[in-house]
Amino acid sequence: MDYHVSRRANLIRDCKSDGVDGLLVTHPVNVRYLTGFTGSSGVLLLSARHAVLVSDARYEEQIKEECQGLDVHIRPHTKTLNEATAEVLNKSGLKGVGVEADHMSIATLAALQDKAGKASYSPLSGRVEHLRAAKDPSELEQIKAAVGVAERAFKMFVALMRETDTEKELADAMEQYIRRAGGLKSAFAPIVAAGERGALPHAAPTNKVVGESSKLLIDWGADVGYKSDLTRTLKSPFPVPPLRKSKEERTGYPFDAVYEAVRQAHEAAVKELRHGAKAKDVDTAARKALTKHSPKGIDLNDHFTHGLGHGIGLETHEGPQLRQNSDAVLEAGNVVTIEPGVYLPGWGGVRIEDDYYITKDGCLRLSTLPHDPGAIG
Ligand code: ZN
Ligand code: ZN
Repeated sequence: MDYHVSRRANLIRDCKSDGVDGLLVTHPVNVRYLTGFTGSSGVLLLSARHAVLVSDARYEEQIKEECQGLDVHIRPHTKTLNEATAEVLNKSGLKGVGVEADHMSIATLAALQDKAGKASYSPLSGRVEHLRAAKDPSELEQIKAAVGVAERAFKMFVALMRETDTEKELADAMEQYIRRAGGLKSAFAPIVAAGERGALPHAAPTNKVVGESSKLLIDWGADVGYKSDLTRTLKSPFPVPPLRKSKEERTGYPFDAVYEAVRQAHEAAVKELRHGAKAKDVDTAARKALTKHSPKGIDLNDHFTHGLGHGIGLETHEGPQLRQNSDAVLEAGNVVTIEPGVYLPGWGGVRIEDDYYITKDGCLRLSTLPHDPGAIG
């Protein structure tokens, strides 16, 4: 089955009510989704009668391999991409063309209006992204592969880390492990945050030595074309002598109590995951569980400062969003992260993140690493 052909047909069908007879897809990730083309310069003109990829000579051979059966317009190096796209548009005779409002620059739109002025252009938002949110079987397999790579990389990471390593050294090492485990590259710059650095949800790795802290947060993912995104928080990855514990380790909230509350929040959210669930309600379930399981004297939900999760696929962050201000309703085929986190300045953070495939009556956990912080290593 050629998934690219059926995706293009679905897109055309979805855009019928927009009053356009064609669509110009310019966002590279969306072009890839609809054609299989992985290069950086390509524009797809799509209608009921046309599917033309405009690119340049650097990609001529690659397109033959990746996009069999697709019409291709290779621009000469004397012409810009906009000029070549305008030529294809003029030749097509299309009257109303939808453009990707979230991605096309004002300069590109002006150039097309100038050089292919017979067509009128309608800004459309999120049409391809909406299709991308529901994964087909080939996409699910690739996300599963990305999760598998990430898990193998994590096992290398835990086996090989030393207490004298810095956050930066470990983050760099993780990128290597991801490649060694079969990934093309890291899905994003890994987060390795020791001790109180974990209080920064998106901590950039520093030269802090990890053996000086009694907890370590790692957020990483693999890119195999599709992506994975996982987080684990390790308790005392190294035996830390009491004298070397920093102030935050000695005086803060008990790690086990905070961890357990986050684990309960994660599980409460997973129970809500199914086709038809409101994304906002799943976020709420996690927050309620976090409050309920908070240690005495603190409401951990006050320190859960981001949304519960996000869709994942060709991009690390895509639809649907799971958060309070989301009106998304989950659909079978969505792949989403669940990642409740608690961030206590001066103490550190705990986050547990896994990737889930939404089904008709529940969900499938794609990752297998245990949540028990003692069982991970
Ligand atoms: Zn993450
Ligand atoms: Zn994430």
